[in-house]
Amino acid sequence: MKEVLLIKNGELALKGMNRRTFEEMLIKNMRRRLESLGGFTFTTAQSTIMAEPLRADCDLEEAAERLKKVFGIAGFSRAAAVEKKMSVILRAAEEYLAPELLAARTFKVEAKRSDKQFPLRSPEICAEVGGYLLRKYPHLTVDVHNPDLTVTVEVRDAYAFIHGKQIKGAGGMPTASAGRAALLISGGIDSPVAGYMLAKRGLELVAVHFASPPYTSERAEQKVCSLLKQVAKYSGRIALYIVPFTEIQEQIKDHCPEEIFTVIMRRMMMRIAQTLAVRERCGALITGESVGQVASQTLPALACTDAVCSIPVFRPLIGMDKDEVVAISRRIETFEISILPYEDCCTVFTPRHPRTRPTLDYVARCEQALEIDALAQRALENVRFMQIRAY
Ligand code: ATP
Ligand code: MG
Repeated sequence: MKEVLLIKNGELALKGMNRRTFEEMLIKNMRRRLESLGGFTFTTAQSTIMAEPLRADCDLEEAAERLKKVFGIAGFSRAAAVEKKMSVILRAAEEYLAPELLAARTFKVEAKRSDKQFPLRSPEICAEVGGYLLRKYPHLTVDVHNPDLTVTVEVRDAYAFIHGKQIKGAGGMPTASAGRAALLISGGIDSPVAGYMLAKRGLELVAVHFASPPYTSERAEQKVCSLLKQVAKYSGRIALYIVPFTEIQEQIKDHCPEEIFTVIMRRMMMRIAQTLAVRERCGALITGESVGQVASQTLPALACTDAVCSIPVFRPLIGMDKDEVVAISRRIETFEISILPYEDCCTVFTPRHPRTRPTLDYVARCEQALEIDALAQRALENVRFMQIRAY
């Protein structure tokens, strides 16, 4: 029996952006995500996308797992695709849904008949399939209000589809439908969550990580790659730039007051990230900051950081408590990676008494001791690039 995936669009019936473009983006994203499982053909009709595996031995279980994380999908089902003949439909429902029918005590049948040529109408399809299944599975009773199992029969162009439970999708908007943004990613808990949240709204991610070898290790970099690999299961592949930050940090340490160290470091990060962002056609920066979490995340400190940015800075965690962020990071399975104990460049030269209310004036004066442009330029010249893929 041919088995396929039937995908229902999420927020796609949308204002402004045309539906067709959205569907095409979603299909492109699904195609990429499922590629290594042997390839699928996608066909669209009446807000449902059918994904049909090219290979008979395709691992549909794994395909379903992957689809659960693709943004832009409200829900989907694994379905049997059969000839549009009542006798075939009955037999297929009996066999294909056997495990679910055996496990249920109550059920109902729903029919959708989008092929208006089909001889039976929806209520007749329901009655026939329902009666047939009751005879084959005598332990069942019908409950139209709150059934354990809903058997759905959809009669469409090429096939009749039979499926049981619908699997919940990730929601959100297809990746890249809202443009691109550059995610500043550390090895911590927050920034992967921030990236995930904005990918959900349709932003394609480009990641920027600052590394300070030998203060930070090779393993810290690998940790960032592992985090991004996990985020990429949701966001699709991510371009990663690794920026050498050692010289900048040493210069700040040698020439600027310790109390203002973090803010100056954050401003350097933003300047460099922004240059990369613009090069990569990103319309915004994303960070994992939230108000008051650390000294560099007070309002005056955030204002000093923002002052060097000319594109919007998105901080999706800005109003969240740590435990709320942790809950998301556990759900998207970045938490266990984030808590691995490798040093991040932020923790290398942490000031003992950071100033929580820096003024822009003071920060700018302190920065005069640095050759900002030359430092940024050198870091950019030595950037390393890699592509992170989920599978
Ligand atoms: P996280 O858990 O994301 O590391 P944090 O609470 O540790 O966040 P900070 O270390 O102050 O906070 O960093 C604030 C934000 O700055 C991070 O969320 C991230 O977006 C960015 N950032 C910090 N360190 C780096 C780094 N080494 N490379 C790139 N971005 C960084
Ligand atoms: Mg950090």
